[in-house]
Amino acid sequence: MKYHSTRDMERKVELSAGEAILKGLAEDGGLFVPDSIPALPEGLDVDAPYGLFAAKVLEPFFEGDELEDCLEEICSAAFDFPIPLHDLADSTVLELFHGPTSAFKDFGARFLAFSMERMLVKRDRRLCILVATSGDTGGAVASAFWKRRNLSVKVLFPKGRVARRQKQQLTCWGDNVSSYEVDGSFDDCQRMVKSAFVDPQYSSLLSSANSINLGRLLPQMVYYVYASMRYVKDKGRRPVIIIPSGNVGNCTGAYWAKAMGAPIERIVLAVNANRTIPDYLESGKYEPRSSVRTLANAMDVGAPSNMERIFDLFPTFDEVKANLSSWSVSDDEIRSTIRAVYEREGYVMCPHTACGEYVRATRFSDRDDVMLVSTAHPAKFDTVVEPLVGTSVPMPKALEELMGRPSEYRSIEADYHELF
Ligand SMILES: *Cc1c(COP(=O)(O)O)cnc(C)c1O
Repeated sequence: MKYHSTRDMERKVELSAGEAILKGLAEDGGLFVPDSIPALPEGLDVDAPYGLFAAKVLEPFFEGDELEDCLEEICSAAFDFPIPLHDLADSTVLELFHGPTSAFKDFGARFLAFSMERMLVKRDRRLCILVATSGDTGGAVASAFWKRRNLSVKVLFPKGRVARRQKQQLTCWGDNVSSYEVDGSFDDCQRMVKSAFVDPQYSSLLSSANSINLGRLLPQMVYYVYASMRYVKDKGRRPVIIIPSGNVGNCTGAYWAKAMGAPIERIVLAVNANRTIPDYLESGKYEPRSSVRTLANAMDVGAPSNMERIFDLFPTFDEVKANLSSWSVSDDEIRSTIRAVYEREGYVMCPHTACGEYVRATRFSDRDDVMLVSTAHPAKFDTVVEPLVGTSVPMPKALEELMGRPSEYRSIEADYHELF
C-alpha cells in the first residue's frame, strides 16, 4: 500500500504508511492519502480483543511497510482502554473518552506515538514533537509521548487562555515532556512552532503530531469499523453516525471506514457556530474563514485542515452533496441540550457531544438508528457543564490521577528561540 499527497494528482511521490507518518505533511503542502481504500478483511471478529481487531483492520493499510508485523503489538499497547456503546432512550452514544486524557484524541495520539517510537529506535534517530495547543490536543499528545523512547515533546500554550483543568493536563508530565506558558495568544504559539520548523538549525530534529498526520487518522477509522459492526450485531440495522466536527479528522476516519465497507448508513457532521461546512453544502462555494469562539472550543475551526482529504474522496460537489450532511449548533442550543439530556436521562454530555445530540433531536426521529459520537468526557468542561446540570460531574479515574500530579512549566516570551 502506498500513499500520495492530495496535491500530487500524478502520484509522482509515493510513500509507505510508516514513511508518511514520520513525514507528517507532504512536501508540496498536501495531506497523505492511500492510493486506494482496501476492502474490509474477511473474517473480522468484532468480539476479538480490540488491539487484535484494530491490527486486522489496519493490516492492508500497512502492507509492505516496516510496521506491518508489529501492528498488533502497537495497537494492544495504544488502545488499552474500553470503547463502550452507551444506549440512551433515542440513540446510542459511542463513548470515545475513556483514554488517559478523556477525549477521542487519545486514540490517534497514542497510535502515532507508539508507531514513531518503533521507527525511530530502529533508525537510532531522535525527534522532538512541537505542539501548540489551546485545547485537547496538547494533553493527548503529551500523555501519549510521555516516556516514549527517542522522542521528546515541547507543549506551548497561551498564558491565561486555557482552563484550569486543561492547564494541569498540559503541565503535569515531566521526563521527556516540557511545557511552556507563552506570553501571547494561541496564534502566537502557532507562529512560534511554524518558525521553528523552518529554521534550518532545528528543522531536521522537529516533528509535529497534529491532526493531519496519517498516524492519527488511521486509528480513527478503526473505531468506526468496530462500532458500526457492533451496532449491527446488537440491533440488526445500520446506524447513521453523527460526529461533532472541527478539523474534520475524526469524520474522515468514518468516511474511510465506510469506503472499506463498514456497515454505516450515513455520516452526519455536527458543527458549532463555525459554519464553513454547512454554508458550503448550501452554496457550493467552499469559503474557509477565521474561527469564532464557542462553548465547544475544540471545534472552533473556520478552515478545517482535513477538508483536502474529503475533497480527495469526493472530487465533485455532487459527490460531496450525496455523502455529507452538516448542521450548525449555537451556544444557546448547546446549553439547552446539555440541560435537556440530563433532565430526561440523567446523562451528562460535554459541549461538543451536545452539538451532535442537538442535530439528532432536531433532524432525526426516535425511530431512526442513530449513533452519536461522544468526543470528550463532560468533566473536562466542568465550568460549562456543571452550572447547567446543577450538580458536580465526577472525574473519571484517569483524569483525577492527572489532576493530583505536580505541575511544572516555564513562562516564556513569544519567541521560539526560548524553546531551545
Ligand atoms: C478535536 C475535538 C473535536 C473535533 O474533531 P476533528 O477531528 O477536529 O473534527 C471534537 N470534540 C472534541 C472534544 C475534540 O477534542
